[in-house]
Amino acid sequence: MTQKIFGHQNPDTDTITSALVAADIETQLGNDAAPYRLGEISSETAYALEHFGVEAPALLNEVGAGEEVILVDHNEKQQSAPGIENATVTKVYDHHRIANFETEGPLYYRAEPVGCTATILNKVYKENNLTISKESAGLMLSAIISDTLLFKSPTTTEEDIDAASELKDIAGVDLEEYGLEMLKAGASTSDKTARQLITGDAKTFDIGEKSVRIAQVNVVDVDEVFSRREELEIAINEEIERDGYDLFTLIVTDILNSNSKVLALGPEFSSVERAFDVALDQNTAVLEGVVSRKKQVVPNITKALSDL
Ligand code: MN
Ligand code: MN
Repeated sequence: MTQKIFGHQNPDTDTITSALVAADIETQLGNDAAPYRLGEISSETAYALEHFGVEAPALLNEVGAGEEVILVDHNEKQQSAPGIENATVTKVYDHHRIANFETEGPLYYRAEPVGCTATILNKVYKENNLTISKESAGLMLSAIISDTLLFKSPTTTEEDIDAASELKDIAGVDLEEYGLEMLKAGASTSDKTARQLITGDAKTFDIGEKSVRIAQVNVVDVDEVFSRREELEIAINEEIERDGYDLFTLIVTDILNSNSKVLALGPEFSSVERAFDVALDQNTAVLEGVVSRKKQVVPNITKALSDL
């Protein structure tokens, strides 16, 4: 049986490239596996794939009961493929919190508190004496640059920096130059609709009894996005109404200055004020030094929602 490898919904660069790279690892190990994606490729990821001449994985709409799957860059079921409850997860490579994950049988589960799934996969290549092609190196490097925002995110570890340094040599690129070009390729917002901005990189988190949707968009022009605040609010309120979120936050991250501005809506909008010690003005606030959803936004909102 071919194992299907995929990352989370609303795929980012780490999720797409980790599926491709993990499939290469499985193939080199003699296992039958193929990479998939659960959604559209972002312009940042498209830039990386094109630069290294790699095709995007095929789209997967759902997994069938009993199918064998390998998860990369996620484990929470509401971020995974429809039907995941009835599939057989054989492996997980991840660097996120573990929440609502359980299996019937034993599995290989590898979680490390590093900045990127690719940093873990780079170790797997080396531990198994596998060959890292120029393409795989380029893909893993792209993932590390993306997830760490060129090492500016507080999620960045020494291991990510060391892995990127090794991989840039195999990939044959200048780290800073390539990295900034790739991030900028994903940071253009004027060509995106409000709906694309609030759904492109959005994840749902169950925090206590609350359902919290956290969307993030990396930009070089924060004001361009907020000039469309009313349009964004309409789109966000539609999502809240349809899916019943208690809180929806759009985190607009300035990749050059390493700050974010948040737009917060929903019944629990005021938790954002407690989470970051800010006052919302027109449902927005500047979050100084905040760039990481995983390490800053989710923990702070979790604390604010439990401190009631
Ligand atoms: Mn990801
Ligand atoms: Mn990741």
